[in-house]
Amino acid sequence: MLEVISFTLGPVQTNAYLVADPATREAAVIDPAWAGQLLLREAQRRGWRIGHLWYTHAHFDHIGGAGAIADGLNPLPLVALHPADHALWRAEGGASLFGFRIDPGPEPTIDLFDGQVLLLGDSRIEVRYTPGHTPGHCIFYVSRPAGASSGLCLCGDLIFQGSVGRTDLPGSDTDALLHSIRSQVFTLPDDTRLLPGHGPETTVGYEKKNNPFVGVSPLS
Ligand SMILES: [Zn+2]
Ligand SMILES: [Zn+2]
Repeated sequence: MLEVISFTLGPVQTNAYLVADPATREAAVIDPAWAGQLLLREAQRRGWRIGHLWYTHAHFDHIGGAGAIADGLNPLPLVALHPADHALWRAEGGASLFGFRIDPGPEPTIDLFDGQVLLLGDSRIEVRYTPGHTPGHCIFYVSRPAGASSGLCLCGDLIFQGSVGRTDLPGSDTDALLHSIRSQVFTLPDDTRLLPGHGPETTVGYEKKNNPFVGVSPLS
């Protein structure tokens, strides 16, 4: 069964997720937000080997810990990102716009795409393409892991508890974001846990009922 450990890190309180298959000890970091050494130490303490960095999108506050993680690993972790966010990655995720410098770590060499299945031991993680907050934003979905009561979705800056990702940034698109939420999140089972890039965990059912930005309007 997939284990997920969450951390809230960095200047804008970004959630990073260390995910692992405890049987094989294979681990990945979904959005190594900041403080890479802390993520690395936690994996080492548990005897897990980080082989992958998977990015929901390339904003600096989601990748700021990548360089420090890579510095502590040999071989280097493989980095996966949707190609539509490569330009943003090369611009260090817009860090300079906010007065930051980051070490973006190894170049992404795995192109994420909609419907792709990533493997971590016996666990299958489905990639869903969800543009809007950035052109290459993706979310990671695990349908009801063995032994768990519900599936889970690591949803980056697409949807938050009672809110949605910003669309006032360069490359953002509000209509695309709402369409992504309705077609890729609200189609998941209501009890699916949503683990967002900022703020507390929520569920698909709760957001369908309560999210004032999306509502339950039909697919558009
Ligand atoms: Zn973002
Ligand atoms: Zn963010």
